[in-house]
Amino acid sequence: MLNPLTILLVTILADAIAMAVLLSLRPAEIPGVGYWIAANAIAVVALLGTALQGHASPWLTLVVANVLFALALLLLFEGCLRFLGRRPRPWPAYVGLLFVLAGMIYWTFVAPNFNARVALVSAYHATVYAALGLLMLTGRPANRPRYSFYFLATAALLLCLGHTTRGVMYGFHLLEQASLMQVSMPNIVFLALGILAPPFLSIGVVMLAHDRLAERLERLANVDDLTGALSRRAFIEIGGALLNASLRTGSPVAIAIVDIDSFKAVNDTHGHAAGDQVLAHFAAFVARELRIGDVFGRLGGEEFGVLCPATSAAEAVVLLERLRARLAATVPDERPRGLRYTFSVGVDQQRRGESLAQLMARADRALYAAKAAGRDRVMAA
Ligand code: GH3
Ligand code: MG
Ligand code: MG
Repeated sequence: MLNPLTILLVTILADAIAMAVLLSLRPAEIPGVGYWIAANAIAVVALLGTALQGHASPWLTLVVANVLFALALLLLFEGCLRFLGRRPRPWPAYVGLLFVLAGMIYWTFVAPNFNARVALVSAYHATVYAALGLLMLTGRPANRPRYSFYFLATAALLLCLGHTTRGVMYGFHLLEQASLMQVSMPNIVFLALGILAPPFLSIGVVMLAHDRLAERLERLANVDDLTGALSRRAFIEIGGALLNASLRTGSPVAIAIVDIDSFKAVNDTHGHAAGDQVLAHFAAFVARELRIGDVFGRLGGEEFGVLCPATSAAEAVVLLERLRARLAATVPDERPRGLRYTFSVGVDQQRRGESLAQLMARADRALYAAKAAGRDRVMAA
């Protein structure tokens, strides 16, 4: 039956279920999940308090329940801030919560006024929902799918609209009513909107958490742990797509296959850990020098690949020569354990209709020629 109490009880159940789902995400240690769990737990308590209206003290059913429900929303918002890596606490929202507390006490016990209480609480919710909606619209990392962010933004902005309407209608006495539990159409619509919010928002944040898990898996598959360069698999996948795209536009693509010289000797003389440091240093050094759009991957061991769109082989030789000279010019403090190391490069550019494998094979031959010629040099095929 569509009465306020039924809606409340259904919401409490939905909230408890959402909390169970969020609890299952705890071991993944995703920032914000702890806040979201707390928000759900507090919302359940607040809604239980609200459901007791008329059967328990107004302190519990009005003041405590409303302030806790507002706190639940605030914690959900703060969880989203943490999720997106924003550190500072949203202090203005906490100060706003104190105003809600003061207003609830005043308009319940000093000068009882139902409309003023509704307007106050709605104004608070509308503000936090607006902030949440904007955060979701503007805070999405560029490389993540839109769906979960836009789902949450839509829910938050609709709730903001609902609370704004409710606040205005009660605040300006366009609606008159004595209690939250009164069965009237507008009351039921607003109530449904307000208390169905937690389950909807919970679904939204669970989607966010799942997207973070997907991102971690993608990263594991695509990024080499030690160097931060693309894995061989991702390099070949992204490189293949790049070559296809450049075939259509007709602009050249250059490849450089880079191999650190006498790297076995670094391992043998200074240990495997020093070798790892050299690899990490080299990758960071190259990544700093690359341009947006260049693709950089670790092909295996101490061998790396660089794909440069809109670049000819001659231009790539200049680029890699500059890199070689810069590395040679570093002072010991800038190098891992002060170790001096060099690298050799084979360079070529894509020929019409050629696959990445064919291009890589030719650049590889150029690399061998560079090694044979004495290392520490860049050679075009
Ligand atoms: P060249 O100048 O001809 O390239 O000689 P090189 O010693 O660099 O080449 P070689 O292929 O003989 O040796 C590569 C070494 O790289 C052997 C392998 O143990 C080491 N290596 C491969 N992967 C890693 C790694 O992740 N960390 C460390 N420390 N060493 C690695
Ligand atoms: Mg080598
Ligand atoms: Mg090698």
